[in-house]
Amino acid sequence: MADRNCGECTLCCKLMGVPELKKPSAKWCVSCDQGKGCTVYEERPQSCRNFQCFWLMDENFPDEFRPDRINALAAFNDVKDSCVLHVDPAKPRAMSSPKVNALIDALLKSYAKVFVLSGKESALIQR
Ligand code: SF4
Ligand code: SF4
Repeated sequence: MADRNCGECTLCCKLMGVPELKKPSAKWCVSCDQGKGCTVYEERPQSCRNFQCFWLMDENFPDEFRPDRINALAAFNDVKDSCVLHVDPAKPRAMSSPKVNALIDALLKSYAKVFVLSGKESALIQR
C-alpha cells in the first residue's frame, strides 16, 4: 500500500472510466465531491478500489506532480511495456507544460511507450 494519500486530488474520478458505473473517461463521476473525495466511498465499485495512479504509488514522484496540480495522471496499461498518461481535456495547455513533459520523459525511462489520452484525442510517444 502507498504511504501517500490523495489529499485534495480527485482527478481520477474525472479522467478514468468506471465500467461498473458506465462512467465514461474524462467526465466527472456524479459521486465525486470535487477536491474532497468520494461520497459513496464505502460502496464504491471494485475498479475504484483497485485504482492507484503512479503518483500515489511511487513517492519518487515529487509532490508538485500530484495529478490535480499538473492536470494529468499516469497509470498502468494492459499493453506490454507501456503506460497511459491521462490528460484533462478541459486543460488543453497541460500537454505543453514543462511538468507534464518532464513526467513523460521520466515515464519513458521505465516504459518503451506512453499512450497519451485526452478526451477524444490520443497520441503515442515512444522512446
Ligand atoms: S489521481 Fe491519483 S492522487 Fe489523484 S485521487 Fe486519483 S489516485 Fe489519488
Ligand atoms: S464512485 Fe467514488 S471513487 Fe469511484 S469514480 Fe465515483 S467518486 Fe470516484
